[in-house]
Amino acid sequence: MRIDLHTHTDQSDGTSAPDELVRQALAVPLGALAITDHDTFAGYEQAAPVAREAGLELVRGIELSTRLSLAGRHGRAPTAHLLGYFVQGEPSAEFRAWLQGQGKNRDRRNVALIAKLRSLGVDITLEEVKQVGRNQTGRPHFASVLVRKGYALNHRQAYDFYLADEARAAVEREQVPVGEGLRRLREAGAVPVLAHPIRMPFGPADERLIDLLGHLKEQGLEGLECQHSEHSAEDVAAFQSLARKLDLKETGGSDFHGGNKPDIDLGTGRNGNVHVAYEQLEALRTPR
Ligand SMILES: [Zn+2]
Ligand SMILES: [Zn+2]
Repeated sequence: MRIDLHTHTDQSDGTSAPDELVRQALAVPLGALAITDHDTFAGYEQAAPVAREAGLELVRGIELSTRLSLAGRHGRAPTAHLLGYFVQGEPSAEFRAWLQGQGKNRDRRNVALIAKLRSLGVDITLEEVKQVGRNQTGRPHFASVLVRKGYALNHRQAYDFYLADEARAAVEREQVPVGEGLRRLREAGAVPVLAHPIRMPFGPADERLIDLLGHLKEQGLEGLECQHSEHSAEDVAAFQSLARKLDLKETGGSDFHGGNKPDIDLGTGRNGNVHVAYEQLEALRTPR
């Protein structure tokens, strides 16, 4: 049975309401669904009773943005997204409190981003962006308002001109070091997995990626997201072989965002390039 271990609801930057996502998963149909919203469990918690009622196996997940301790382009440290799966039990109270603090970081970044855009002559307010973002305001919502007000033709252009990490209005969000993210996930009781490794600064054939993954494993990484909408068939094979070489668990997911990434389908990814088997969830549940 097909499953999906990487999805977002409208409680972070997706567009499906949690109960809607459960219905969409049943329609695919999926044998299990993990909700991995950025920095919040709100989507999972709203979906849980609906999934229980419908008989869909739902997994509590989270996605954290962390920074690698490497010098990236333009001197910025590259970002690493970590997925955490709570397959053993509920997250600790300490971890929940920490997540709330991460939300405040995001608010500060948004205020700084508005100031920077306004200094570039863009007439936009935080209230306008928050109306679009509702639950968790982030860059996709800034992009929507920039397009609506005619500052960009489409989302891609809004990112290229203003919002991307190297664009004119870029504001660096305070991100936790990857080692701290891994430690917090483990202490909270989650299985930490590196999301979409294709976005790492080194490609799958680059020796430096093996070193980097080995280093992350020493810090607590347990899995590698081999199947993802951004991975070609060759990438998937390369990441699977890396996971085997490093004894990391193999996970996968579409990274479904609903209408915010309309070319990505729940459970199947981009043009059917994602296929995750139920056995991968079972392996995730098996403690080392
Ligand atoms: Zn991500
Ligand atoms: Zn994601």
